[in-house]
Amino acid sequence: MMAQYLEIKSAYPQALLFYRMGDFYELFFDDAVAASAALDIALTKRGKHDGADIPMCGVPVHAAEGYLLTLIRKGFRVAVCEQMESPAEAKKRGYKAVVRREVVRLVTPGTLTEDSLLEPRRHNYLAAFAQIRDAAALAWVDISTGAFHVMPLPSVRLGPELARLRPAEVILAQDADLQVQDLVAEAGAAPTLHSRAAFDSTAAPGRVCSALGVASLEAFGTFDRAEASAMGALVDYIDITQKGQVPLLRPPVREAGAAFMQIDAATRRNLELTQSLSGGRAGSLLATIDRTVTSAGARLLERRLSSPSRDMGTISDRLDAVDLLVTDVTFCTDLRDALRKVPDIDRALSRLSLDRGGPRDMTAIRAALEQAEALASLCQGRDLPPALKDHVANLTGHETLHALLDAALVAEPPLLARDGGFIAPGHDADLDEARTLRDEGRSVIARMEGEYRDETGISSLKIKHNNVLGYFIETTATHAEKMMSAPLSETFIHRQTTANQVRFTTVPLSEMETRILNAGAHALDIEMRLYSSLKAAILDAAPSLGLTAQALADIDLSAALADLARDLDWCRPTLDSSRAFEVEGGRHPVVEAALSQTGDPFIANDCALTETDNGAVWLLTGPNMAGKSTFLRQNALIALLAQMGSYVPAKSARIGLVSQLFSRVGASDDLARGRSTFMVEMVETAAILNQADEAALVILDEIGRGTATYDGLSIAWATLEHLHDANRCRALFATHYHELTALADKLGGVENATVAVKEWEGDVIFLHEVRKGAADRSYGVQVAKLAGLPPSVVERARIVLEALEQGEREGGVRPKALIDDLPLFSVAATPAPSPTKSKTDDLLAGIDPDTLTPREALQALYDLKDAL
Ligand code: ADP
Repeated sequence: MMAQYLEIKSAYPQALLFYRMGDFYELFFDDAVAASAALDIALTKRGKHDGADIPMCGVPVHAAEGYLLTLIRKGFRVAVCEQMESPAEAKKRGYKAVVRREVVRLVTPGTLTEDSLLEPRRHNYLAAFAQIRDAAALAWVDISTGAFHVMPLPSVRLGPELARLRPAEVILAQDADLQVQDLVAEAGAAPTLHSRAAFDSTAAPGRVCSALGVASLEAFGTFDRAEASAMGALVDYIDITQKGQVPLLRPPVREAGAAFMQIDAATRRNLELTQSLSGGRAGSLLATIDRTVTSAGARLLERRLSSPSRDMGTISDRLDAVDLLVTDVTFCTDLRDALRKVPDIDRALSRLSLDRGGPRDMTAIRAALEQAEALASLCQGRDLPPALKDHVANLTGHETLHALLDAALVAEPPLLARDGGFIAPGHDADLDEARTLRDEGRSVIARMEGEYRDETGISSLKIKHNNVLGYFIETTATHAEKMMSAPLSETFIHRQTTANQVRFTTVPLSEMETRILNAGAHALDIEMRLYSSLKAAILDAAPSLGLTAQALADIDLSAALADLARDLDWCRPTLDSSRAFEVEGGRHPVVEAALSQTGDPFIANDCALTETDNGAVWLLTGPNMAGKSTFLRQNALIALLAQMGSYVPAKSARIGLVSQLFSRVGASDDLARGRSTFMVEMVETAAILNQADEAALVILDEIGRGTATYDGLSIAWATLEHLHDANRCRALFATHYHELTALADKLGGVENATVAVKEWEGDVIFLHEVRKGAADRSYGVQVAKLAGLPPSVVERARIVLEALEQGEREGGVRPKALIDDLPLFSVAATPAPSPTKSKTDDLLAGIDPDTLTPREALQALYDLKDAL
């Protein structure tokens, strides 16, 4: 057996081998050591190899999915090796023959299909990146839904594209550049190095065609060599991991990068589109706006949000659909009620195609078809916009399949086909007959029990069943003697004696058992045959079922966006090909949602960038905490929401199509990343200045803050000029360098704006109102006071500030001179902190958890740590 194990294991050096032994998957050697640590299960040993103990651990087969999930999450790959025959069959081949085993599947992060291993509301993409000389391409597929895409992609665009798709696993050729491998790891995906041969572009079309079951790829478009290579590698890898079981792949869709608003990884992170800065879904834009009621709808929303369109026709079609559903509340509610009952057809289909499905996947499809028909009749006779009309047309046409599934399947079938009992009575005469025989047998046995009680006079006699003995008669030991002596012993044959019971059988009972067994096995055979034919009927219809699934997801998304828009009073944006950016009464959806929990109002703000021949820039000044970042981000989000085809959180919005969206945050705000932050900030800013075109929208928050004042000011200054003169794009630029406000007079496209605050009795009150004009000062000392700096420090800062300002007015007194001139700092001059109070107490007292943003909370933690 060990020889067999080692041979199989040698073919899967990079995976943990789950070696099936009866009811367990066993792991040996290093696999056992790694898995027992990762799963926190006992490590034992079994036998010896080359004189040393063999480490071993095992997981029970029935609980294997949970363990698999943990291992995959921890970055392992698992090869599942099954017994391909029973021990009895092996024995037939020879006394010492080892049961034949084969790896039936290689489980990797990108090739999961089980519901328990997948997140229902997210795609699970497997991608392949191919480079052929100076061309490169990315192909990606979601095996659990069959979605298949490809696009030409220069390697410089790989990072942003991975950030958009967030694949679970990326396949690279063995000799891929290290830089490319780094990009993949940085995007949080598992890089898988695959043989160069799998990337062979000449073999690729044939491989892809056979996976899709078509004769030629040309029907789906023309693909260059890099694209073919990426698609071929994907298909090859799927073949290897699924051991030849071909998942249902949809025809590849060729995506053109130019069709989407380009958003790089840093921008996605800063804007917290699908993940918040702390890494979770909660607190992201996606989580805030997601009102979809189906998993496929949720996945579509994430796709749209990750890839806003640049095509006016597409956007306005989507908006028309939302529009109708915003206006017609009842219609929208009815659609959503029906959609709530729609299961995940895509994933059910995928499991069926990989032979990993069960009767419940079939009833899921039946339920979806039922709802699809209900939705179609809700839409009947209505004047629908084109996008909706197309989808509604795809909802119907499955009447025959639906009727078949309806007639064939019971209401609530078991999980596994091999348990039987899922085919409805009346569907198949042979099955009904076999079942009747089986059930009659059971009732005959129940009758026998009564007869035997009468015959023996033992009222406690029972007929029972277990897997070892089959049916047997059982009495207590006290009555056994009677049964074992004449005349009863002629009828009752002794089988077994346990501690308190004695078991018997009779000839009629064993005959009846055989009949029941045969009828039961026959019934199960028939059910399995019917299962296969139902599966074939479903898979035959897979392409059009896929369209129905798409239509359902699309209608769900339109209705969800309409529900959101109506509920939160959003407006339909106007999009055109100008370079306008006019938002009236804009709001930040996530900040607003957070504030609404505490009952605080969100102050809506306008933003109107004036079109000029150069760039159009708003230079935003104002104290910390005034709401600058919020304002910047809300405008970026409004553009993004508009182009994904959603209403936007504003009174009105007119936006010239945005080609690229960039967002950067000054280094010290970027705490979550924990890198050499100033360097990162500069690298990211460079990327914008090098790439932003005239239709780009750029938001820069406190750029240059991560270095000394004059350095920072100079960098911010030059960046602003470059955006205005060279990039000539639309930009919102927040800074605390007041000196920059003077640039507005010099640069035609730059306007000053500020977030208003009010000063009241030495304190600052944030109004969160954005107005034209420059901030008069930064109120840093007041904000510090609000933050709970000890009063002595606040007072001292005020004195130093006054002296500095006075010095500047009087012709530039240097700080050095001031240090000598100012009266000494005196803690005693202000109320001394009580001796029991430490600095951390002060800091803690200054924290108001309900008003902290996550970033401020993190900063507070750093401050507390520093104070220890
Ligand atoms: P800044 O970037 O100027 O330091 P932020 O944008 O981080 O300020 O905002 C600080 C806090 O002020 C936010 O967490 C939010 O609670 C609140 N805030 C910001 N803008 C608004 C607004 N328009 N209406 C109400 N509260 C706001």
